[in-house]
Amino acid sequence: MKVYFLGTGTSQGIPVIGSNHSVCLSNDLKDKRLRVSVWIHDENNSIVIDCGPDFRQQMLTSKCQKVDAILFTHEHADHTAGMDDIRPFNFKQGPIPIYAHDRVLKNLEKRFDYIFETENKYPGAPSIQSNEVVNNKPFSIGSFQVIPINVLHGNLQVFGYRIGDFAYLTDVKTVEPSEIEKLKGVKVLVVNALREEPHHSHFNLQEALDFVTLIQPEIAYFTHISHILGFHDEVQKKLPKNVFLAYDNLEISI
Ligand SMILES: [Zn+2]
Repeated sequence: MKVYFLGTGTSQGIPVIGSNHSVCLSNDLKDKRLRVSVWIHDENNSIVIDCGPDFRQQMLTSKCQKVDAILFTHEHADHTAGMDDIRPFNFKQGPIPIYAHDRVLKNLEKRFDYIFETENKYPGAPSIQSNEVVNNKPFSIGSFQVIPINVLHGNLQVFGYRIGDFAYLTDVKTVEPSEIEKLKGVKVLVVNALREEPHHSHFNLQEALDFVTLIQPEIAYFTHISHILGFHDEVQKKLPKNVFLAYDNLEISI
């Protein structure tokens, strides 16, 4: 199984529009971060977690040829605003199954009413097939067994997902012991690390490091990174030897 980091930035992306911050002005490609998303694939299966405003660019750059399903973590725009751009996949494949919490499905239905329209739908509009994700109910997509991990982003419920030895958690601030159990034995953990300063709804760098110590994966990658965390290369030097800052277009094998 391969995991391709389509985007590793926080909600505004890096560079931030109009910003003169040194990280936003960096020429290092590892300091350029689209909105957060991953593509998980093997020979037969291909799924994407979240569909933010950079989805089109991410699909072009990664050369992703098919999407069997989109899993949503939560409804915030940096994770959902690219929904209109699934159309090229619809034209090749038909409706794309999406997986999300019932609350998120309802939110998408409101914001993308034309996608969910059943009568007189505009020809060529995106088409999806909705699937509700329920905590403690693992599901399968092709041969991928998916375990939802229920976490909190401030007060908002968010789903992380575990597939075999890999787990992906973004926009996390609090994780209950029951959910920690579900992450036991995971080899590769991806988790959000926004910046050094505390934040009300995201792990900061120290909280993300503490979480890695708690879960003890073989290797961990940090994502959903703000420009104020600093330059990739400088932050990387300060991390333990099994912890890495993810960067856009990094692909790992699991
Ligand atoms: Zn986010």
